[in-house]
Amino acid sequence: MTPVRVLAVASEVYPIIKTGGLADVAGALPIALKAHGVEMRTLMPGYPDVMRRLAGAAELRSWPDYFGGSGRLLAGSHDGLDLFVLDVPHLYARPGNPYVTAEGVDWPDNGVRFAALSRVAADIGRGLVPAFVPDVVHAHDWQGGLAPAYLHYDGGPRPGTVMTIHNMAYQGKFDRSLASAIGLPSHATFDVHGLEYFGGISFLKAGLQLADRITTVSPTYAHEIQSDEGGMGLGGLLRERSSVLSGILNGIDVEVWNPQTDPHIAYRFSSEDLAFRAANKAVLQQQFNLDSSDEAPLLGVISRLSWQKGLDLLLEAIPTILDQRMQLALLGSGDRDLQDRYQAAARANPGRIGVTIGYDEVLAHLIQAGSDALLVPSRFEPCGLTQLCALRYGAIPIVSRVGGLEDTIVDIGEAGREATGFKFAPVTADALAGSLRKANAAFHDKAAWRRLQRSGLATDVSWRNRAGEYAALYRGLMASRRA
Ligand code: ADP
Repeated sequence: MTPVRVLAVASEVYPIIKTGGLADVAGALPIALKAHGVEMRTLMPGYPDVMRRLAGAAELRSWPDYFGGSGRLLAGSHDGLDLFVLDVPHLYARPGNPYVTAEGVDWPDNGVRFAALSRVAADIGRGLVPAFVPDVVHAHDWQGGLAPAYLHYDGGPRPGTVMTIHNMAYQGKFDRSLASAIGLPSHATFDVHGLEYFGGISFLKAGLQLADRITTVSPTYAHEIQSDEGGMGLGGLLRERSSVLSGILNGIDVEVWNPQTDPHIAYRFSSEDLAFRAANKAVLQQQFNLDSSDEAPLLGVISRLSWQKGLDLLLEAIPTILDQRMQLALLGSGDRDLQDRYQAAARANPGRIGVTIGYDEVLAHLIQAGSDALLVPSRFEPCGLTQLCALRYGAIPIVSRVGGLEDTIVDIGEAGREATGFKFAPVTADALAGSLRKANAAFHDKAAWRRLQRSGLATDVSWRNRAGEYAALYRGLMASRRA
C-alpha cells in the first residue's frame, strides 16, 4: 500500500464543532482512513471552541497581517484527529454557530473568512509546512471551495485536488468585487471555467470546476445533481465533469452510535436482544409528554427544520398519524415558522405529538433507541445520517426516495433484497401518509417488524469500507497525475 498524505479542509469537525453531517464526515473519515494507509490532517478555523480544546497546540507560522489582522497556523490533535488550526481572531473568534450571527443571518464577511481558510490550505498544499506536504488537498463544501482555485490561479506544481459536496444548496456566492480582498486576480472573476458564476463569483462552483475529482456523499445524489433542478444552477457544469464525479456513501461512527455501550440512553441493548427498546420507548414518551403506550407506534424525527427536510409535509400528514393511532416525537431547530407550527401541533394534540425545539445530542440518542420508526421525508438528501443511526438502533426508517435515502434503505416492496424500511415517492404529504399507513400495518405484525429490524441491524453502516473508497480515489488520482 503506497502511503498517501491528504490535507482535508473543513469548516466544522465533530466532536469539536458541528452544525450538520459535514462535521460528522470530517471527524470520522480521517480515523477510518488510517487502516487504508492514508494519513489525513484536517485544517479548520480557530473558532473559540477549537482554541479552547487545542490550548496546547504548537505554533507553526504567524503573520502580522493575514486578511486584515494578525494570524497564526497551529498544529495539534484532539480525540485522535490531527489538526491544523488557522487562528485569525478577527475572522473566527466569534461564539456560537460558525456561519451566522446570534440573529441567524450570515456573517457579512463570510467570503473573507472562508477564503482565508482556503488560502492557507493551498499554501500547505505547496509545502508551507515541510513536515506535512500533502499528495492531495481534499476540500469540503463551499467553505473549502477556493482551495483548488488558489492552487489553480497561483500556477506552478501543485498537489491533486478533490472537492466534496455535502449539500448543493449552499454555494458560497459573492459579488465579484470580493476578489481583490481575497487575493484573487480580477480576471479570475470573469473566468467562466473557474470562479465566475452568473455575473458574480461562487466558491463552490470554483471548486467544482477546478478540482481534479468531485465527490458527493451518495451515488444517487451524484446522479441527481447533474439535472437542472438537482444541480441548483450547477447541473450543466456537473454534466460536463461527470467523468470525474462519483458518489461515496457516508458511514457513521459505530462507537458513538452503539446501543450496547451508549451512555446517553436509558437502557442499553444488544442487536440480539431488543427487549430493552420498550423501556427506552417509555422514557422517551415521558420526556415528550406522550401517552405511555406500548401499542401505539412511536415515530421519531431528529432534524434541522428546513424546506429541504420536508417537515412541512409531515405537518400535513398529522391527521394520518392521529387516525392511525401513532405518536410523534420531534427534535429539531431551524426555520421559525416550522418551529411555531410544530409547537402548535404539540399543544393541539397532547399525549400524541411531542416536540422539543433545540439541538440536543443526548436526546437524539434516546430517540433512536426508543422510537419504533424514524422519519426522514426530505425533498433532497445528499446522504442523510439519521437513517443510518436508526438502522443500528432497531428503529425502522421511513424515508423519501431521494439521494442517499434511496441508496441506504431497502423498501419493504423491493423484490430479492432484505427490506430495512419504507420508501415513498413522489415527495408529497399524500405519499408520506401512504407509507405511514403501511408502516403501521407492519408494526402490528410483530414477525414482519422483527424481520425489518434484523435486516437493518445487519446492515454495515460503518466507515470501514467507505473510507476504502476514498483511499482508492486518492491513489487513482495520484496515479493519473503521475501518468
Ligand atoms: P444535515 O447535515 O443535512 O443536517 P444529516 O442527516 O446528514 O443532515 O446530519 C444531521 C446530523 O445532525 C445527524 O448526526 C443528526 O443526528 C444531527 N442532528 C440534526 N438535528 C439535530 C438536533 N436537533 N439535535 C441533535 N442532533 C441533531
